[in-house]
Amino acid sequence: MTELPDRRLLLVHAHPDDESINNGATMARYAADGAHVTLVTCTLGEEGEVIPDRLAHLAPDREDILGPHRIGELTAAMKELGVTDHRFLGGPGRFRDSGMMGAEQNNRPGAFWSADLDEAAAYLVEVIREVRPQVLVTYDPDGGYGHPDHIKAHRVAMRAADLAAEPAFRRDLGDPHTVAKIYWNRVPRSVAEERFRWLAGALGPTPYAAMASIGDVPGVVDDARVTAEIDGRAFAAAKTAAMAAHATQVEIAPGGEPVFVLSNELAQPVFDVEYYELARGEAATPYETDLFAGVVA
Ligand SMILES: [Zn+2]
Repeated sequence: MTELPDRRLLLVHAHPDDESINNGATMARYAADGAHVTLVTCTLGEEGEVIPDRLAHLAPDREDILGPHRIGELTAAMKELGVTDHRFLGGPGRFRDSGMMGAEQNNRPGAFWSADLDEAAAYLVEVIREVRPQVLVTYDPDGGYGHPDHIKAHRVAMRAADLAAEPAFRRDLGDPHTVAKIYWNRVPRSVAEERFRWLAGALGPTPYAAMASIGDVPGVVDDARVTAEIDGRAFAAAKTAAMAAHATQVEIAPGGEPVFVLSNELAQPVFDVEYYELARGEAATPYETDLFAGVVA
């Protein structure tokens, strides 16, 4: 890439669908605003539970072709968000979905969880040195909710940011680059509580019998830890459409309410304002409304 836009945002996620659920509005907003948005997804999400009956045959305990199918879902989601630069870490299928924590898939050869950290990080170093993002978004050290692939994605992202800046590391992967700001996905507890109170009242018109709980939402923390928010309300429809593109994993409530379910069929609110904690770098202001605030191109 020789002509890079001034602002460059890199997001590192574990599975197809995580980007749309966590950052869909942010991605759509920055893409529409002319920033270069790069998504790196670490696995194909081969171990996901399939919601629609008509697609149940894709599942890992049946035909085991969910991974390739989810490449198509992710491609469709990126179209909805207006994001054109999407890659899989090390190429599609290089690392496999590790399943939930404690599953035997965690330690299977090729599983992302059991991959060597520096070997996995080197693939991301190459992307960082090519795209040269000022801002990187990923999960907190717990991966938001303890899924092994999310924890590993966090570790790979943080390690790669270090290695990319290290002049002595693998010059064959490009010239050193320091990412100015690293954010972790967050949801302020008060916002989650407010949205679930709203959801309790809105559940009626939806086909769903029960709600998830705040504990099911990744990255919920005390409000004081949240340092930035991106108002994506103008891109709420794009976010919802991107989530819906992941049809094996996500179902959007019919009728237009911002409500979705995963395979557990517990209703959750769609967040069209997305929240972040600055984990590395300097905040331009105590509470930021632009991830690029204070960043020099
Ligand atoms: Zn995931």
